[in-house]
Amino acid sequence: MSYNNSGKEALAATACWTAAMRANESDHVDSLFHDPWANLLAGQVGRDWVDHISTKLGRAHEIGLVVRTKFFDDFLLRATTEHLVRQVVTVAAGMDTRGFRLAWPAQTRLFELDQPELLAHKEQLLSSVGAFPTCWRQTIGVDLRDSWSDTLCQAGFDPLQHSVWLLEGVLPYLPEPSVLHLLDVVTTLSASGSWLGFNVVNHEALTSPWARPWIEFLKKLDAPWLSTMDEPEIVLAERGWTATVVQSGEESANFGRWPYPVVPRSVLGYPRSLFAIATRMPD
Ligand code: SAM
Repeated sequence: MSYNNSGKEALAATACWTAAMRANESDHVDSLFHDPWANLLAGQVGRDWVDHISTKLGRAHEIGLVVRTKFFDDFLLRATTEHLVRQVVTVAAGMDTRGFRLAWPAQTRLFELDQPELLAHKEQLLSSVGAFPTCWRQTIGVDLRDSWSDTLCQAGFDPLQHSVWLLEGVLPYLPEPSVLHLLDVVTTLSASGSWLGFNVVNHEALTSPWARPWIEFLKKLDAPWLSTMDEPEIVLAERGWTATVVQSGEESANFGRWPYPVVPRSVLGYPRSLFAIATRMPD
C-alpha cells in the first residue's frame, strides 16, 4: 500500500515523513535515538517529503522533529521508570516505533491509536521484518474525531490506573474543537497522577510571513495545519493538569542540536513550537 496525497491519506503521509526524518537521524554517528525500522516505515512517500522539505524549506523542521522525538522519548521513559506508570497511550502514533526501540520497564502496556489503514500497513511492514516489541503492545484503529474511549477500554486500558499519554505531531492537524474534545477525553480517562505530553504551535506559526512557505506546503499536500495553542498551561489547567511548557530549542529541548536563537515567550509576535508535559492533579 502506498499513500497518495489526498485527505486522510495525506495525513498518513505526514507520519511517513516524520519516520523518514527519524531514519536520517538514526544514520548519524551521534544520533539522539536509533530507529532501525524508520526507513522501511517511511517508504518512498516519506523520503520524497523529506527531500523536498530539506531542499526547499531549510533544516529547522528536521532538527525540530529530532529534538521533539528525543524530548518525548525521555518524557515517556521518566513516566514509566521514575513514576512507575505502566499504561502508555500514543495518540496518532503514526509510524512511531517506541514500542520496539525503547527499553520499557516490565509490565508496560502500550496502546497505539491512529487511522486503521495506516496501522494495518505499519503492522504488515513490521511483521515482514520480524520486529518484536519491547513491551505488551496493542494497536487500535480509530478516527480521533469520533468517540474511541470504549474501544480503548475494551482493548484493556484501565482508566482507574495511572497512564501516560503522548499526542505528538497531531494537534495542529485537527480543528480546535477536535483538539479540545480530545484533551477532554484524555482527561476523563486519566486517573490523578497520570501524565500527558503533546506539542502544539502558536498562532504566529500559522500567520507569520516566516512560516508561510511551510504552511503553503502543507496546504498544497492536503494536510494543512488547522489549529494553534498559545498558552497550553491554561488549556491544561482548565482540565485539571499542571503543565510545564518549553519551546523547541530551549535548554531542556535542545540536546545540543538547535542552532537558532530562541525568542522568550514573553516577546510577542514570533512563531513558536511548544512542548507541553503535564501531570493530572487530584479531583
Ligand atoms: N505521532 C507520530 C509522529 O510524531 O511521528 C505521527 C505524527 S503524523 C505528523 C500525524 C498523525 O496523525 C498521522 O499518523 C495521522 O494518521 C494521524 N491522524 C491525523 N488525524 C487523525 C484522525 N482524525 N484520526 C486518527 N489519526 C489521525
